[in-house]
Amino acid sequence: MTQEEYKIYIDDIVRRVESARLMVSDYHIVKIVAISKYSTSDEIEKLYGIGQRAFGENKVQDLKAKATELEELPLEWHFVGNLQKNKINNLLDINPALFHSLDSLDLAYEMQKKLQAREMTLDALLQINSAKEDSKHGFMPEEATKAYETIKKECPNINLKGVMSIGAHSQDKDVIRKSFETTYEIYKSLDGASICSMGMSGDFELAIICGSNMIRLGSIMFNK
Ligand SMILES: *Cc1c(COP(=O)(O)O)cnc(C)c1O
Repeated sequence: MTQEEYKIYIDDIVRRVESARLMVSDYHIVKIVAISKYSTSDEIEKLYGIGQRAFGENKVQDLKAKATELEELPLEWHFVGNLQKNKINNLLDINPALFHSLDSLDLAYEMQKKLQAREMTLDALLQINSAKEDSKHGFMPEEATKAYETIKKECPNINLKGVMSIGAHSQDKDVIRKSFETTYEIYKSLDGASICSMGMSGDFELAIICGSNMIRLGSIMFNK
C-alpha cells in the first residue's frame, strides 16, 4: 500500500471506532493503542506518519528495541504483555506511559519495591481474566475488586487507572460479549478508575459497545 492508500485504510478503521462509540454516547471517547508486536520500526513510522501516537508491545525486549530505534519520534509507549518479575527493571528503564497487564499481587509488590527505590511512579491497569481461561493471565473477576483496593492501598508508587482484559477466546459473540460485560461491571464499581482497556482487531466494536474506552489494535492497524 502507498502512504495514501494506507491513510484511507486507517480512516476506515477510525470510522468503525467512531460508529461504535456513538452507539454508547456522544461523549464516549475511545483511544486506539496500535500494538506493534508483529511489525517493524519502519511500519510504526509509517503509521506515525498518518497520525498514530500510542503504540504497544507485549515483550520488554521488543519494546526496548523499538522505543530506542524510534526515540526521535514523540511516541507514547504502552506495555501489554505478561511481565516476569526479573524483567521489571528493564520495563521501568523505558518508563512506559501505561502498563496494561498488572496480573498478580506478587508482581505488584515487587514492582512497588523497584518503583520506590527509583523514586518513580507508574500508571497501570489491573488485568482481569474475565472469561476465566487457563491460557490467560489476570485476576479472576471475583477477586479483582479486592486486589485493586489492596494495590491502591499498599503500593503507593503504582498509579492504578483502571482495568484491562482480553475478550473470551470464542466464536460465539454472546460469550465474548459476556466477558466484556464482566470486565466493564468491575470497572464501573471501582472508585476513580478512568481506563477500561478491552477490544482487539477481531472484537473492538463489541468491546466499545460494552464500554471500552481504550482498544488495543494489532494486526488490523498494520494490515497483517
Ligand atoms: C497482540 C495483542 C493485542 C492485539 O492483537 P490483534 O488481535 O492483533 O489486534 C492486544 N492486546 C494484547 C494483550 C496483545 O498481546
